[in-house]
Amino acid sequence: MFLLLVEDEGTLAESLSGVLVAKGHRVDWVADGQMALSQLATTRYDAMVLDLGLPYLDGRGVLEALRTDQKFIDRQDLPVLILSARDQSIDKIAALDAGADDYLSKPFDVNELEARLFALLRRRLGKTGTDLNWAGIRFDATKRIFFCENETLNLSPREHAALLALLQAQGEPLSRQALFERVFADDEDALSVDAIDVVVYRLRKKLTPLQAQIHSVRGVGLYLESIPT
Ligand code: CA
Repeated sequence: MFLLLVEDEGTLAESLSGVLVAKGHRVDWVADGQMALSQLATTRYDAMVLDLGLPYLDGRGVLEALRTDQKFIDRQDLPVLILSARDQSIDKIAALDAGADDYLSKPFDVNELEARLFALLRRRLGKTGTDLNWAGIRFDATKRIFFCENETLNLSPREHAALLALLQAQGEPLSRQALFERVFADDEDALSVDAIDVVVYRLRKKLTPLQAQIHSVRGVGLYLESIPT
């Protein structure tokens, strides 16, 4: 998942994004509400993890802007999970009323946070159950394993991150740059975007015996599609 984390506690934000990146997600972190709105205006995320008590503009204000401002019209259904120290039910109700999809009180378990984010994503895609499906490939979000016709796919961590991003895109093309940023999110070294081609090449080889393949459209990007039998 490509996540926007809005959290003003630096220590918490750093440890949380560290764990999420290690799990193969990409995280942009901002520490105040105004920065959150700038990020939302320029970048397409899969979900936002939002603290309530924030400088300049609080979490409630961010949520209201996202859900009502014309500027966000094409992304106002972004799944939002509220993260807050305020565990009183009145705050939860206010946040849910303002358009939050879910709510976690601090302290929380990162695995639970991840599972809830996957659930929000599936709900947005109109899927039920615990799996993410596309082109005959199934991702078991609990076990973090890909299946195709009940066979497990053995993937390297980078292939795993690439396939997850393609599965989440549900057939919509992802640019090489977007895929690169998802797959190499944990790599501090300045790598060229070309590094993604090697990952895609290996992934294509592993998908070759299956009924799904990664297609590319020049200048647009890569997408996953099932092969007609
Ligand atoms: Ca805070």
